[in-house]
Amino acid sequence: MNDLYRLLPAELDTLFQDLGHPRYRADQVLRSLYQDAPGSLDDLRQLPAALRQQLAEAGWGVGSATGVHRVVSEDGNTTKLLLRMAGGTLIETVLMQYPEPGKHPRSTVCVSTQAGCAMGCVFCATGQMGFERNLHAEEIVAQVVHIARLLRERGEHVTNVVFMGMGEPLANYNETIRAVRILVDPRAFGLSQRAITISTVGLLRGIDRLAEEGLQVGLAISLHAPTEELRQHLVPTAGPHSVADLVSAAKRFFKSTGRRVTFEYALIAGENDRPEDALALARLLRHSGTHVNLIPVNPTAGGYGRPARQRVLEFERILRENGVNTTVRVEKGSEISAACGQLRTDAEARIFSPDELSVPPAAPKHGRRQATHAPAQSPAR
Ligand code: SF4
Repeated sequence: MNDLYRLLPAELDTLFQDLGHPRYRADQVLRSLYQDAPGSLDDLRQLPAALRQQLAEAGWGVGSATGVHRVVSEDGNTTKLLLRMAGGTLIETVLMQYPEPGKHPRSTVCVSTQAGCAMGCVFCATGQMGFERNLHAEEIVAQVVHIARLLRERGEHVTNVVFMGMGEPLANYNETIRAVRILVDPRAFGLSQRAITISTVGLLRGIDRLAEEGLQVGLAISLHAPTEELRQHLVPTAGPHSVADLVSAAKRFFKSTGRRVTFEYALIAGENDRPEDALALARLLRHSGTHVNLIPVNPTAGGYGRPARQRVLEFERILRENGVNTTVRVEKGSEISAACGQLRTDAEARIFSPDELSVPPAAPKHGRRQATHAPAQSPAR
């Protein structure tokens, strides 16, 4: 089946033109796809039955993500979903909400771009899972549409999308960019380009391509270490000059887009949280025009843990005093396995009772049953 969610509005116009119908039919479908989130072609009630039949005969349908499991944090601000895609692939999507007095909360959807991940970051549950497959653009869009439908039920809406879930977005470049273009098209999902952030573990070619896309999306680069040696330990797939290369790539991205790059730094107790690491990071990034986001990793059962709060604040202080713009990411949802890959790993390890899962859990690729941790807010490459 070809999924209508895959199409950009201009492509949908062409499809209806080719089928012998006026453009307003495409507008009707777009309104329905992004406002009503239909589950099938039959739900496109604005279209005459004969046209729905014609679409079906031409091989078109409406795909969707099916919610398999949902966990909500104690404060209600973080919701983590295990979603089943076509063919039974399980992926994770997270909704993070930030209450704002007198307003609707800021509602950020963290989407996955791959099932599993080949980058192998040692502290990440997804990385330990290995790579399963790239997600299609329509599967990335489906995650946002699924959350949007949940929010609409309570009068809220999606305000931001971050590509920080399972997988490396720039390793699935074309599908990631197609999904972004659908999400920001005013005739489709209609999100502001600036409300989208793509996070990468540092694929240089992808960063340079993204800089030339003519998009105003944000870029976050997961650095995690101030030296080549430490970075290769934490991100085994990183190249030998990755630290210096990434700082140069961030500068090029800023020059092309005018958008300041954020460096994500997962703080891991005893690994990269020493004062001398902070000083080395400050020396590397001072005057680079970038921003550092420190992410204390979730408490972990896999050997990598979160530094004590005092240690985190000390790291932040050293960076700031040395002229590096720094924030510490608010920890969200650690008690619900909000780190990337944990929920699926928990499912595979049968931490949930069978009736909590509506599909049989997939077998882990590498036989690993213990969840490790990525940074606290689902990301992080
Ligand atoms: S942190 Fe991100 S890039 Fe690294 S293994 Fe996990 S999903 Fe992949």
